[in-house]
Amino acid sequence: MDQPIEGIGERSDAVLRTAMPARYWHRLEDGRIQCDVCPRYCKLHEGQRGLCFVRARQHDQIVLTTYGRSSGFCIDPIEKKPLVHFLPGTPVLSFGTAGCNLTCKFCQNWDISKARDLDRIQDVASPAAIAEAAARSGCRSVAFTYNDPVIFLEYAVDVAQACRARGIKTVAVSAGYIAPEPRVEFFRHMDAANIDLKGFTEGFYKNLCTGKLTPVLETLEYLKHQTNVWFEITTLLIPGENDSAAEIEAESAWVMDRLGPDVPLHFTAFHPDWKMLDTPPTPPQTLRMARRIAMQAGLHYVYTGNIHDPAGQTTYCHACGAALIGRDWYELTAWNLSADGACLACGTDCAGVFEVAPGRWGARRQPIKVRATAADAPI
Ligand code: SF4
Repeated sequence: MDQPIEGIGERSDAVLRTAMPARYWHRLEDGRIQCDVCPRYCKLHEGQRGLCFVRARQHDQIVLTTYGRSSGFCIDPIEKKPLVHFLPGTPVLSFGTAGCNLTCKFCQNWDISKARDLDRIQDVASPAAIAEAAARSGCRSVAFTYNDPVIFLEYAVDVAQACRARGIKTVAVSAGYIAPEPRVEFFRHMDAANIDLKGFTEGFYKNLCTGKLTPVLETLEYLKHQTNVWFEITTLLIPGENDSAAEIEAESAWVMDRLGPDVPLHFTAFHPDWKMLDTPPTPPQTLRMARRIAMQAGLHYVYTGNIHDPAGQTTYCHACGAALIGRDWYELTAWNLSADGACLACGTDCAGVFEVAPGRWGARRQPIKVRATAADAPI
């Protein structure tokens, strides 16, 4: 772990409320410093923050201002991330920090991602304390979620290392908007990811997120072809913006062609939020249509989300059609996989990361406090 910077941040309640030196930046000829973490490549003068608000130039270097600080911890079902082929039924210790490197007008977590008041993220937690809390509470994994962990890469990597040392897996919930070099380091420490593929046109990314589609597609291809990270994809369908049959066909064909049939794809329902309060919620029939289109394109595992649709949230064997994992929201209602993850009816493997039996966490959501460990004593 890097050492905190003298004179920056507070040292009162542990070393943790401190800006930490950040990686991935370089100095420009005109005196500015460029952050190289994400495709925005913010160019900063002394004292300025990047668009994500949490990476800043202080003392002539880039620092992460939210290292060790969280907007709160909660034990969730892993299905809520959503990840449905990764340790189904198990609890995951979830947390986020503040800020985001996209500016989605439809943000469903805007109170966290748009947070500018860093005092709002009061919970202080070291990597060791988070791993300890996960182990103590019986969580099989820790998820970086609520806001995009790409922007707190140094903290996420340290937490992931502490977790892995204790046999706890790590999950990134991310938009995949990250530059090639940090992408390698970031995902090397992750066991699973859910990547938000927000739409399938550059226009959507430009107009609604002030971002670009291409780097996200590159992240997806990187995950598939150069890592062992288990990942699933989520597309929030927004009426009139990214929910046309043509766009869904194009996305499904791309996933099939570039990633193959076994990457699960979730189509989830939008609800009016942030700067899109006048857009109506996604009708359930749109989600079902999208699922149909993606399955016709050849994808094996396609799901609907944020609506009541047990049929659209069940995992079926792609060979014989048997229901393998039944779900009702985040609750498992059936389990027909063998100990090694194959269909009990026909023996065909189901893609994913499974244990001998499913977890029994259910749909509960339980906020918890993470306590400091002895290793967190102030220095
Ligand atoms: S991570 Fe933040 S500071 Fe760095 S380029 Fe992206 S938005 Fe800018």
